[in-house]
Amino acid sequence: MFNRLSAGVLGFAATIALAIPAFANAVDRAALERDLAILAADNMEGREAGTRGHERAAGYVAGRFAALGLEPAGDDGTYFQSVPMRRYERAEDGNTLAIEGMGELTLFEDYTVSGTAQQESGSLTAPLVFIGYGLDIPGRDDFAGVDLEGAVALRVYGGPEGLNTEESAHFRSTLNQRLSDRGAVGVLLLTTPKLEQIYSWERLVEVSSHGSSMTWVGPDGRAHSSGPNILASGSLSPDLSRELLQGLDFDYDDLVAAEATPEALLPSFALGREVTIDFASHFEDIETPNVIGLLPGSDPAVADEYVVLTAHLDHVGIQPTEEEGDDEIYNGALDNAVGVASMIEVARMLQGDAQRRPVLVIALTAEEKGLLGSSYNAANPTVPAGQVVANVNLDMPVITYDFADVVAFGAERSNLHPQVVAATEEFGLTLSPDPQPEQGFFTRSDQYSYVRAGVPAVYLDLGFANGGEEAQGLVFDNHYHEPSDEIDLIDFDALERFTAVNHAIARNVANMDETPAWVPGDFFGTTFGGRIVGADSAAD
Ligand SMILES: [Zn+2]
Repeated sequence: MFNRLSAGVLGFAATIALAIPAFANAVDRAALERDLAILAADNMEGREAGTRGHERAAGYVAGRFAALGLEPAGDDGTYFQSVPMRRYERAEDGNTLAIEGMGELTLFEDYTVSGTAQQESGSLTAPLVFIGYGLDIPGRDDFAGVDLEGAVALRVYGGPEGLNTEESAHFRSTLNQRLSDRGAVGVLLLTTPKLEQIYSWERLVEVSSHGSSMTWVGPDGRAHSSGPNILASGSLSPDLSRELLQGLDFDYDDLVAAEATPEALLPSFALGREVTIDFASHFEDIETPNVIGLLPGSDPAVADEYVVLTAHLDHVGIQPTEEEGDDEIYNGALDNAVGVASMIEVARMLQGDAQRRPVLVIALTAEEKGLLGSSYNAANPTVPAGQVVANVNLDMPVITYDFADVVAFGAERSNLHPQVVAATEEFGLTLSPDPQPEQGFFTRSDQYSYVRAGVPAVYLDLGFANGGEEAQGLVFDNHYHEPSDEIDLIDFDALERFTAVNHAIARNVANMDETPAWVPGDFFGTTFGGRIVGADSAAD
């Protein structure tokens, strides 16, 4: 689709400023539609982090922040927080794996293996240690009795039944950290039938044989990683997994049988043999911006309590196909131009509230690369450390139908909950419980980066009432991360209402009497040392 606005994206912002209506607290529907049309246009080239299209979109958002009068709150008096990134990709040659006493193994037949962002190439020889799921939770410690110092951990995917899904998603995402903390230098995944219910071996091979990954590089020059000591990782085919455990006290059949029980109790043990892994990658260092504006608060008593509104601006870019005439641009209208457009409008509406707390408005980069823009911002805030007290995030609300209920992921874990309830009641909406707890959505978007920094968060989405389940299923089945995620899917009446609710939540949180804090005993609040309701101050 040709886009007439392509010529002057930045110059356009000044025109929009004049269009702010006199009633600052009604949603400016025209501005919403305009922002969305611009951000989801073909000339934004799918807004992939590190590309020209994303830079252009970031420039547009900064122009909008300026036009609305937000103060620049990025680096050096600008709206941009530059995030140093490392792109790393498996090299064609130089990635091999050999196991003591097992003959010659073939890449992509018997195993996959690649390096991490820590070291561009190298070789390691290390003992293999089986650690089951790598869980260390009350009543269960898969690391007991084994020594991982200098070892390659051998693991399986999943866990016992009855683990809360958000918590088990958390355990999966922090596994490398816990392995690294114990000195492991590599990790290999065994393929079992339980894993193949989710990921077939063929798919594992396909995913690991192409594509690049990214992470951010900290001020100390080190690549950010959940497991900084881990130099290589990979997976073993079902056949090799079976062969490797052959003749041991606990063999592959025992493993499959144990995984089929609810408790899924697995032993941990050293295999008594070594693995040698050679790894080689291509590194490329790039920069990509978060866009940050500030709305100062009106109450000096809470001037050091920043509320952070976030929505990721990046999407997955252009992906060429073989066929001539195919649409190759992933416009990401729902994912997540709607979130950004809605957030910009909320920022404008907040100016009519003289809200008490300062509010940072952040269009995040590199969410699609693994929550990287948010993770960098949470670890390297542009305001003094420890002063971010709450996060309100938007990511891909499926705004294609006349919704009647909303879901606020994570809200009930903190004292943000009553603020969200009040906001939804204001609009006669039902606040529904998470309809798909098995998806673990609270750990799957940018709010989780702030949660990991101890900050209470809420992630607002739409519910399943009034045809919502069908409408959302349709989008996830047909348009999610597809070139067809375009503006014609969007119901603008619904978006206008969603933005009004989102504004009410942001306003209530920015004005609440108590400091945002976690409910006592909450898993995430406790795990990450956040401020707890009723406690004097945040734990270290
Ligand atoms: Zn996405």
